Amino acid sequence: MIESPTGKVIVVDGGGNPGTDERLGRDPGNYVVVPYLRSRGISTVDLIVPTHPDEDHVQGLNAVVARLNVRAALDGGYPAASPAYQRLMTTLSRRHIPIHLARRPNRIDIGGGAFLEVLAPGETPIRGSHSATNNNSIVLRVVYDKARFLLTGDAEAEEEEEIMATAPDIGSDVLKAGHHGSRWSTSDAFLFRVHPTLAIISCGKNNLYNHPHREMLQRLARNNVRILRTDQNGGVIIETDGATIQVTPTIIDPGKRGSD
Ligand SMILES: [Zn+2]
Repeated sequence: MIESPTGKVIVVDGGGNPGTDERLGRDPGNYVVVPYLRSRGISTVDLIVPTHPDEDHVQGLNAVVARLNVRAALDGGYPAASPAYQRLMTTLSRRHIPIHLARRPNRIDIGGGAFLEVLAPGETPIRGSHSATNNNSIVLRVVYDKARFLLTGDAEAEEEEEIMATAPDIGSDVLKAGHHGSRWSTSDAFLFRVHPTLAIISCGKNNLYNHPHREMLQRLARNNVRILRTDQNGGVIIETDGATIQVTPTIIDPGKRGSD
């Protein structure tokens, strides 16, 4: 969730529990995202961004649309069959919520001098890659004065290469590592260009894919990037005045929690 200097709220992905139906209420949208937004007094979301149609990203956005007031959506337009994504698109059009197509190099004003840059997808989808849906993720850079944050969805090395070839500057202070810390994402070349001081890996505890992968953690370590992981550190809150950046993980010392 991004909150701009003028209070605009953007929700990029909503989590999900693949194989379950969010209409039963047992998904991160219903039990994490919506309660968190409500706890901050937020009832209106200015923009939702499904980075790509996979259930683990889109499902929770259905809860956001069902239970809060959503003004608009930014969509990659990649054809996909995931049931949660189809439900989302149906609800948006039934409610006449505008859906904007994300295309490089869109620049979206979010108020107070802050903006979102769309670094991907471009006009032509990436084909023949390791994963077509992942490699057509919406990739956003959030820019507020000197502070920059890169949100990569589930982009893998192929999409990272295209971004490096098309964007003049992708330098960022904080990198949301691609695809839950997969070995297929966050290449050495990409890390060199982004040059982050902090990487945040969004991954479930004891997940089926063994994310984050060791090779990828080693790449971050080699590049002296500090690592926070949602399976160990919980949610991560970052505040900036455009010059300095303050990082607050909700679980500061995971070791103290034991091995629950
Ligand atoms: Zn994913």
